[in-house]
Amino acid sequence: MKKPIEEWKTILPDHVFNILWKQETEPPFTGELVDEKRHGIYCCAGCGNQLFSSSAKFDSGSGWPSFIEPMSSKSISTRIDDGFGMSRVEVICASCGGHLGHVFDDGPNPLGKRYCINSAALTFIKQTSIL
Ligand code: FE
Repeated sequence: MKKPIEEWKTILPDHVFNILWKQETEPPFTGELVDEKRHGIYCCAGCGNQLFSSSAKFDSGSGWPSFIEPMSSKSISTRIDDGFGMSRVEVICASCGGHLGHVFDDGPNPLGKRYCINSAALTFIKQTSIL
């Protein structure tokens, strides 16, 4: 769901807008979903696109919700982020294009990926059974 950035500005709370559309990062260990352990689906806080299953969540110790893989190929896209003097791989919502976080190559085996996602970029939908 594509919308002009001005429209997101009127819809989203400031702290969510600043992450999704200004590439800000929330301070570690502050997000309410960092320690979330219930079964469910993590969706984009902007457009509601289904991003990650709770079955892919793991405790990375980083202070941000961390996942080994997205739910599907329609969940996320990536692009190179050269900001802050680093070359990182940025994770964006495949539906609305909002910034979610970054993906690193130091995740657990066998996939080896760590999707490091801002809690405020996510909404959690609790499910009764694991997906
Ligand atoms: Fe989205």
